[in-house]
Amino acid sequence: MTDPTVPTCSTSPLAEELRRKIRDRGPLPVADWMALCLGHPQHGYYTTRDPFGAAGDFTTAPEISQMFGELLGLWAAAAWQLMGAPVPVRLVELGPGRGTMMADVLRAARVLPAFRAAMTVHLVETSPVLERRQRETLAAAGVPIAWHHDLAAVPDGATIVLANEFFDSLPVHQAVKSVAGWHARTVGLAPDGRFVFDVGPEDPAVAAQVPEFWRSAPAGAIFEWRDDAVVQAIAARVARQGAALVVDYGHVDQDLGETLQAVRAHDFVDPLQNPGEADLTAHVDFCALARAAAAAGARVDGPVTQGGFLRQLGIATRADTLKAAAPQKAAEIDAALARLLDPAKTGMGSLFKALGLAHPSLLPLPGLDPAP
Ligand code: SAH
Repeated sequence: MTDPTVPTCSTSPLAEELRRKIRDRGPLPVADWMALCLGHPQHGYYTTRDPFGAAGDFTTAPEISQMFGELLGLWAAAAWQLMGAPVPVRLVELGPGRGTMMADVLRAARVLPAFRAAMTVHLVETSPVLERRQRETLAAAGVPIAWHHDLAAVPDGATIVLANEFFDSLPVHQAVKSVAGWHARTVGLAPDGRFVFDVGPEDPAVAAQVPEFWRSAPAGAIFEWRDDAVVQAIAARVARQGAALVVDYGHVDQDLGETLQAVRAHDFVDPLQNPGEADLTAHVDFCALARAAAAAGARVDGPVTQGGFLRQLGIATRADTLKAAAPQKAAEIDAALARLLDPAKTGMGSLFKALGLAHPSLLPLPGLDPAP
């Protein structure tokens, strides 16, 4: 009988390909591991499945309640007015999952018919399975929708960008400190073929990524960062004409430590076993996002906690309206509200943050006042 406590060697096509790659070219940097596990063109986690919901691996805020997307729809309508109601306007969503949030956003945007009439929707999605799902969800949306693999493919012009739980799925780099200096953290192979964490040679280019005041951290310290390219591209667009909202889980104060995690069937699993079969994410460093966005010319509003953001946008009133319209669903609506606002350290209301980016001359974006 197999001992369930001993990790077995995955023999999936992706695991075999990653093993070959590591044998041929040496251990893979953690960011490459994450990018391949999630986005490999044939066998990547997102390439091959719809991971959401109770029967899937994890549940996101728009899948918990329609209130989330509706409030983001009102946020977008308010942002459009702050921008001077430009026509046309591009409403962009990065990583739209099942399309649930955009469906709720567009329904709520009916409160401002001129906004709906002015918009073209652009969904940036790399997964063919999820793109199909989004096309089904949004078939009757009533506004023009285009799909792209990359934000760069969205035509320029006045833009509103929404991104929920998108940045956490972008590859994260890790550096490890030794007595000699900083090294890239990598994934290599144990003699029995299992994937194991490893470290590359001491590397000044890796050290240069670590903020100066942490460079002399004790041996064993880990520092994590993401490339700034995506947030810079968003910031450069909104600095021309627009606004953006990023909601994700993560921290406001930069710190040492690693947060790479794998989730499968709503449970944490080993991020190195069964590549391509579990969702791999890492916390978003909102301090780094804000710094990169400001350097690219955007004004930064927030970050605030998701709980603070949704409260400022009036989620309690929206919940009351929904309960009055469907009293038999009151308990369900209250449970969703409690989950979205959960103030516990690991609850969505507190661990998740909302960050706004805007053209520098815009009035403050709604919901992002740090001390309302
Ligand atoms: N926003 C959705 C889904 C979050 S999961 C929700 O809140 O429910 C992450 C989403 O980002 C998925 O749709 C995934 O396919 C997509 N994605 C991951 N990496 C991407 C990339 N580099 N470019 C575009 N989409 C990406």
